[in-house]
Amino acid sequence: MPAAQSKVRTIPIDQPFLRGLATYIADKHKASLPDLSRVLIVFPAQRNKLYLRRYLLEALGASGMMPPTMMTVRELLGAIYEAAGGRTALTLSPIERSFFLKEVIDTHKVEFWHDVPFLRFITIGDRLLTFFDELAQEHVTIDQIEEIVEAGHYPEKYVADELPIMKQIYHAYRNRLKEEQYCDAIDMYTTVYGQFDPQQFNEYTHIVIAGLIAPTVVEVSVISRILESLPAELILHSDCTAIMKSLNTDHPLYAHSRLMQALALKKARALSKGFRSAPPVIHARRLESISQQTLYMKECLSSALTRHEPSRIAVILTDETIVDTVTEVLRTAGIEYNLSAGLMLAQSILYCFLQLLRDVTASNCHYRALFAFLRHPLVKNAVVDGTPLRKHIYHLERKMIKQKDNYFEAEKYKKDYAELCCFLSECVSTIQKQRPIDEYLYGIAALLDRVISYNEDVVTKRRPDIKALTEELNSLAQLRFERKHESGVDMLDFALSLMKQVRYTSYGDPMKGVQVIGVLEARNLDFDCIILPSMNEGIFPTRSEKDLFINQSVRKEVGLPYDKERENLFYYYFNELTNGKREVYLSYIEEETRDVRSRFIDFLIDQGVTSVDETKLRLESTVLEYLPRYVTKDAHVFKRLRMIVSGKGLSPTHLRDYCQCPYRFYLKYILRIQEPEDIVEEPGAREWGNAMHRALHYFYQYDVQHGYTEKDVERVRALLDERLVTAVRNEIARIPKKVIEFDIELYRRRMAQVIKSDVQRFEEGFRVVTERLEKYVNADVLIGDVRVNLFGRADRVDERDSMYYVIDYKSKVPAAKHYAVGSDFQEFQLPLYALMMINQTHDRIGGLVYYDLSRSVRIVSVADEDTVETYLNDFREKILIPTLTELLNPDVPFSQTSEPESCRYCQYKHMCGVTDV
Ligand code: SF4
Repeated sequence: MPAAQSKVRTIPIDQPFLRGLATYIADKHKASLPDLSRVLIVFPAQRNKLYLRRYLLEALGASGMMPPTMMTVRELLGAIYEAAGGRTALTLSPIERSFFLKEVIDTHKVEFWHDVPFLRFITIGDRLLTFFDELAQEHVTIDQIEEIVEAGHYPEKYVADELPIMKQIYHAYRNRLKEEQYCDAIDMYTTVYGQFDPQQFNEYTHIVIAGLIAPTVVEVSVISRILESLPAELILHSDCTAIMKSLNTDHPLYAHSRLMQALALKKARALSKGFRSAPPVIHARRLESISQQTLYMKECLSSALTRHEPSRIAVILTDETIVDTVTEVLRTAGIEYNLSAGLMLAQSILYCFLQLLRDVTASNCHYRALFAFLRHPLVKNAVVDGTPLRKHIYHLERKMIKQKDNYFEAEKYKKDYAELCCFLSECVSTIQKQRPIDEYLYGIAALLDRVISYNEDVVTKRRPDIKALTEELNSLAQLRFERKHESGVDMLDFALSLMKQVRYTSYGDPMKGVQVIGVLEARNLDFDCIILPSMNEGIFPTRSEKDLFINQSVRKEVGLPYDKERENLFYYYFNELTNGKREVYLSYIEEETRDVRSRFIDFLIDQGVTSVDETKLRLESTVLEYLPRYVTKDAHVFKRLRMIVSGKGLSPTHLRDYCQCPYRFYLKYILRIQEPEDIVEEPGAREWGNAMHRALHYFYQYDVQHGYTEKDVERVRALLDERLVTAVRNEIARIPKKVIEFDIELYRRRMAQVIKSDVQRFEEGFRVVTERLEKYVNADVLIGDVRVNLFGRADRVDERDSMYYVIDYKSKVPAAKHYAVGSDFQEFQLPLYALMMINQTHDRIGGLVYYDLSRSVRIVSVADEDTVETYLNDFREKILIPTLTELLNPDVPFSQTSEPESCRYCQYKHMCGVTDV
């Protein structure tokens, strides 16, 4: 193709692409000014157009012009299709196609009944249509794939005969479309490939196809014909020498070399206009968490803004899930920004709302799904009829937890939380309704409208994601053809799966503020400084969903893009993004759940271009302040402490908390930060322990007040069983999960062992003092000038020969060092209660006992008749008084413990930054 030989130009990759292109166009077409509209420029992405217009004016030194005609590649294909007689009015939208395909797949469920899970898998979202489209774009058929699979004996990926199944569905889908006289993207690619006449563009004096990287086979065929027949050029951001010899996926210019090969071109010429810049300064940073990354981004931005114009700084969204974090950092730091990216609708506020509501409905208002829904910003910030829901939400959650209501019933709570219950009922009933599809979807759209109207803040912001989702719902409802009725949660599921793949575009002013931009939108753009967060493998380069169906070797053989080529594209993006900049900030997160740092950082290290800063991030320079590691007892703290000790007083739990960690005491009792509560449906040892405590308490309090003997065992076992079942309901969840039934049998056996052990105790002369069961006792003690009130309840007190034995039920008996008087002491329950009994009723204490309710039920004596007096004296003098004295010493701060063991089960770990226990 000699005519095309001189038609490839490169703008060196270390020079700004669009500025170079603008200078070239300006030089070439000065004579045509002010009208450049007969020049056609084709770009890979929309944003390129905006910047080129501005740079052209700069290059021309003009204040105005008739700009060149500009199209994206997609728009170019659309124009070709239309000129070739494509029936664009009858082209189905992506959503309509998905409906068609779903119906076709449904009709195959009987024939392929043994592969229904596979059929369901290919119905989800647009994965099968994406595959079909890819085949059309690359001009490959399923027959060709089948041939290669058979010849190479490649194994099937999901089920036997998956390719024949997909082929049958493909043909059924295409026939169905034809019968109903619709067409879709596949028709467009086929028509463009087969019928493109380049003369369609002969009105243009100059056609520039600029900045492409890896066009599809259909696109290559169009480019080739344009280059052959028209005054056209291909201008790449590349290297004119390397481009001819980089046919290896390890080279960043591999895609361009492949393109040259596909176009049968052998030479490219460099366009260089003196924009060469010095290599960028590259900062690379290792971080340990997403929150550290957030803080680091703020540091980078503050630093970069001292050297660069805001609009010349870009934060590149390598990972779209961080978009909210990035914009929040910018917002809270008061930095103006412009978000410009194709974002996933699945991450929008309304999509999440619908997804959470779907979970509430499908789970029958299970409390976990409900609480997650209630915490959605559109729910917790809603104001319904003048009533803010936030306060009600907090109370409702606490009430449900307290009452162990694991399933929400509006009837039960509507008296106290009328607006919230009404809101929830409205949401759930809308999702559950059985109606024709369009009415169902309009119903959801109307619900969302109302929900937005309850959120004044959202109403005023006019968010593009809200607009996009509402439009998607409306287009879903406006199908141009009759569909079967299917609604309720299933319909919502299907709608969510369709919308999940949809992207919406957010554009702002590209010349104003820091640019927050997606990787694809950033191609060819020119910034002074870029920030690339989340540079981990799996994110950059990303994993591709396109490779779901076909093995990589088959893809390579048949001519479909394969994994190495996709990864190579990221290599090119990385080079294109980082070259020609003045400053580049790279960061990656090193944590267990993520892949290692991106290979591209390693390449830079190997080249000696940068090294990774692995020092710990300094927290004091961040927006988040961690709480100090100790708190001095200033006047305010001390006042509160005195109020506690002299008011309600201190229980054994207070004292144990203090001994384990004074800082926890401070958080829990001085600051009164409550430990998070939950409804535990699948209980652990702690919950079962509580249930056994409760069952034994009521059993001795009401069922067997006078004890029992061997002959009563069967009868009393039944009574204790019943108490246990009730306790499970009250302690664990009102509607217990089925799995508990298996566990309960285990605990029934333990209860039977308690009965057996108690039969023996009763035979030895003990009796349970029912009037002392969990009875509140208190006493006070003077420490300096502070009167300290102490109080507590014992699980059980037994009596024999006028001696009292204090008993504590334990599902795990503490280590001896924790109840022996010494430096590791922390078990106050038994001795404190015994001292208070002596003080209050002058009882004689015969012993202190742990009743071990673990697998082997047994009695563990802490002190017996012979040792109890000494033990209690030692406890008082060596533990209790020194502990209280230290607690009330204003010079001793509330410090964090240095014992990792104390932190292991502590509920305040997240506040202390304790992570390694
Ligand atoms: S996590 Fe550790 S240091 Fe923090 S309050 Fe709990 S026990 Fe104390």
